[in-house]
Amino acid sequence: SSFLLVFLRDIILCDVLQVLFQAQKELLNYSGSGISVLEMSHRSSDFNKIINKTENLLRELLNIPDNYKVMFLQGGGSGQFSGVPLNLIGLKEDRCADYIVTGTWSAKAAKEAEKYGKVNVVHPKLDSYTKIPDPSSWTLNPSASYVYYCCNETVHGVEYNFTPETNGVVLVSDMSSNFLSRPVDVSKFGLIFAGAQKNVGCAGVTVVIVREDLLGHALKECPIVLDYKVQAEMNSLYNTPPCFSIYIMGLVLEWIKNNGGSAAMETLNKQKSAMIYDIISASNGFYACPVETACRSRMNVPFRVGKKEGDDALEKEFLEGASKRGMISLKGHRSVGGIRASLYNAVTVEDTAALAGYMREFLKEHQ
Ligand code: PMP
Repeated sequence: SSFLLVFLRDIILCDVLQVLFQAQKELLNYSGSGISVLEMSHRSSDFNKIINKTENLLRELLNIPDNYKVMFLQGGGSGQFSGVPLNLIGLKEDRCADYIVTGTWSAKAAKEAEKYGKVNVVHPKLDSYTKIPDPSSWTLNPSASYVYYCCNETVHGVEYNFTPETNGVVLVSDMSSNFLSRPVDVSKFGLIFAGAQKNVGCAGVTVVIVREDLLGHALKECPIVLDYKVQAEMNSLYNTPPCFSIYIMGLVLEWIKNNGGSAAMETLNKQKSAMIYDIISASNGFYACPVETACRSRMNVPFRVGKKEGDDALEKEFLEGASKRGMISLKGHRSVGGIRASLYNAVTVEDTAALAGYMREFLKEHQ
């Protein structure tokens, strides 16, 4: 009967809860080893299998070409705000980098890069992060070491639905909050990085995918744990990596694979985000999303309640009602206020329908 139970559970749990059950099942005794991944040496053969499995799954899911290295590093997305310039701004003598600044996260990355070279923001400063300036208005520097952008601005809900054209200059993207939410052509990039904690796992590990020929240009002051060449050559094992987070990422990637890969995630994410944006659009201004339609994020939907600038009392009531219905973490980032619905891969269509239903109900009651 335990076989039947496991079988039934696997049918019922097609959502990402499967991953947590698997981790729970293996927590005390990983694959017959008698110990937990939490206790395992990062030099053990069991962990070696785990990190290789995780890398291979990632290569398969993103179709990563062979001339790219994959690393699992610490320091978070913010660590890479420094890692990118420390490793790449020296690619050309001028030490210049182009930044497209469309929200909090690319602004922070640009600020960090200024410590290591010249940063050129390629468009006039935006007064609000609600759009992507038209590429025809960008002044890209042909002798820049790289062009940097954040593919999905998590706080402001601004997402690129195109890949910037850089005329041959190395392209770098922070995909922390939309990683594996849709397919991506890795070959167009010099480097992609993503903290795991949104779409592919838990906090503690950051994926860096980098084209091999860009390695070996780190500034001499680059901390060795952030030196891509060192970490790539040592299979991310220069020092102790975040073993458990890498293991969890492997389980999540397996789940993504079993559920149709990045293309299937994209279909679901389109469907989910449309459910929320449609309600906003049809609400006659009761719900308001400040972001221009063409770059509205499928991952993070920011909106105000009551009126365009938001009605604090109504928003408070909205959040309380949501919480009573088991919907949490809907409060907008403290820097922008309002509401933010994050619809990462782990959020199901059913979860999204519950939010949509609540939004309709709230609208009817207060309009
Ligand atoms: N980039 C993006 C797009 C993010 O959303 C975040 C965090 N939410 C970061 C970078 C920073 O990541 P971390 O907190 O892992 O440093």
